[in-house]
Amino acid sequence: MAAYHFWLVSIMGILKDQVALVTGASRGIGRAIALEFAREGASVLVNYNNSKELAESLVQEIEDLGGKAACFQADVAQEEQVDEMVAFTISELGKIDILVCNAGVVKDQLMGFMNLDEWEQVVKTNLTGTFVTMKACLRHMMRNKKGSIINISSIAATRGGRGHANYAASKGGINSLTISAAIELAPKRIRVNAIAPGVIDTDMTERVQNLAKEEILQNIPLKQIGVPQDVANLAAFLASEKASYITGEIINVNGGMGLGS
Ligand code: NAP
Repeated sequence: MAAYHFWLVSIMGILKDQVALVTGASRGIGRAIALEFAREGASVLVNYNNSKELAESLVQEIEDLGGKAACFQADVAQEEQVDEMVAFTISELGKIDILVCNAGVVKDQLMGFMNLDEWEQVVKTNLTGTFVTMKACLRHMMRNKKGSIINISSIAATRGGRGHANYAASKGGINSLTISAAIELAPKRIRVNAIAPGVIDTDMTERVQNLAKEEILQNIPLKQIGVPQDVANLAAFLASEKASYITGEIINVNGGMGLGS
């Protein structure tokens, strides 16, 4: 029954016949995006860095449902590895229509104690990794005169946070990169948007949720922590032709976090 349902949506889905590359798709938000894209009919390249078994299990899950997927290990901060991943995606799945730059890390520390390593690791993975992956896909998308790029930013980009200097700066950089790329690539019919999640229930937020869940909920008008599917739903829309007139936007998915009371 599940396989039949999947077959039906994959021939009618909003991402039918599309190929997507999703970075950091082994866990959390990236995993939910990859699965949602597959449900909507896309073939998916599942990128991972350390979590090989989880990435392979996602490929299996998509294939069991009747979809097409492959996985590839690459550290997004390493340009050569990213170039190899992009070449692999095109040879294995035929093309790249959609790119989601989702891979990200946190390394919280108060600024006075933050060493250069903690700064560079976060900026290199989150911001440089996004630039490098976009650049690697661009030449291919420009030739095809078609593409949708979705960068995963954060509420921290505009609101910052204690201990978040490296992370917030990396996400602020993603917002600026998204806008500049949208302007530059519009003539090639490549749309570039970003999603800025609030607090989403993943491994990344486990610690902060354990420490301060009630406090966080007080700042969320919808009074709940988000789930990865909340981000995946918007990513599928932005990736699709339904969003064909939307570019250069940074869209919040945060339950109203940060709105006035
Ligand atoms: P997560 O559960 O910790 O998952 C992070 C993912 O990124 C994993 O799949 C991990 O792969 C991958 N990754 C990390 N470093 C990588 C690298 N150098 N190269 C390739 N992949 C790498 O985090 P998440 O909560 O899903 O976060 C996903 C994105 O959403 C991040 O950009 C994060 O900043 C952003 N975000 C999250 C929240 C939230 O509340 N959760 C809020 C705002 C923004 P491996 O496990 O294979 O190493």
